[in-house]
Amino acid sequence: MPFWPTIYPSKKEGIQPYAKVLYLSPILEKRAWSAVVGVVAHELAHIVLRHPVEGVDPKTYNDNEKAAWLKVEEWGFVAQSRRCQAIHKWRESYDKYRIQKLKDNSG
Ligand SMILES: [Zn+2]
Repeated sequence: MPFWPTIYPSKKEGIQPYAKVLYLSPILEKRAWSAVVGVVAHELAHIVLRHPVEGVDPKTYNDNEKAAWLKVEEWGFVAQSRRCQAIHKWRESYDKYRIQKLKDNSG
């Protein structure tokens, strides 16, 4: 899923970060518990793996996503990881379908 809640403090002007904040959308509270666990573990995996949030090309982004899910599974949340990835795949294909439908109807 394209989550964007991980924010790293700026290192500009010699300011060193002493904390990282992980913001999770309140919408998450409406999800099934296994999805919540999967998403939280996934976002924590990005932090543990020190993945940058900005300035990442699409290939690196996809590689980081895979690495984060692998880390989640390494931590023992295999079912949660697979569930989240399945939902993401379904959503992507549904979005493509809807976009195509809009294109078909507009032309
Ligand atoms: Zn991610």
